[in-house]
Amino acid sequence: MKSILQASYWEHSVLSPLATNCFVFSRTDKMIMIDPGGPEAVDIAKRMMDRGTPIKHILITHGHFDHIGWAGEVKKISGDGCKIYASKFEKEPLPDFNQWPQRFGFPSKTISMPDEWIEPDIILNLEGIRIEAIHAPGHTPGSTVYYVEDSNLAFTGDVLFQLSIGRTDFPFSDPETMDKSLKKLVEKLPNNTDFWPGHGDASTIAFEKINNPFLIALQKKN
Ligand SMILES: [Zn+2]
Repeated sequence: MKSILQASYWEHSVLSPLATNCFVFSRTDKMIMIDPGGPEAVDIAKRMMDRGTPIKHILITHGHFDHIGWAGEVKKISGDGCKIYASKFEKEPLPDFNQWPQRFGFPSKTISMPDEWIEPDIILNLEGIRIEAIHAPGHTPGSTVYYVEDSNLAFTGDVLFQLSIGRTDFPFSDPETMDKSLKKLVEKLPNNTDFWPGHGDASTIAFEKINNPFLIALQKKN
């Protein structure tokens, strides 16, 4: 499991340089990609073009370069009508995030701006899939969890990991806001929800509630 139900296509890849989880899926012949955060995303996009199922929608969990970095290249290859979506709250920090590759010792690169700045907690109906864009700031101001209720599946980006949470010691991060977002997530997502984080292995909300030290500490605080 841990994929989209009744999908016409599903692919999970781990991209360099920071082992980012990238997903391609759909229920039609136009694809949705989440987090093209490594150069391999460009090869995936080419492959999708070759099989006649181009990437039409690029969903970004947040604006760090290991999640959005190759969105522009994917869009260019994927032809007309391909759009990049990110939270409107990533608009302000994105120019700063764009300096991060150099700052972290990676080659500098130009990062494309999204086409659609999405509102918090909206529903996206894309290629037959209803995707709730849950605003979950803290790691970044516009961090977004994409939740597909009919598949009991969420893509949590760098908000919630298996047995961990996203870092809140970066510029534009905020630990207190992160606490609120984690609370919102565990209240909103049913226990049987599988989730794929931005890095590392998949998990479930039920497992994390019992075993994730950050969620346990959060429960004790309240
Ligand atoms: Zn991040």
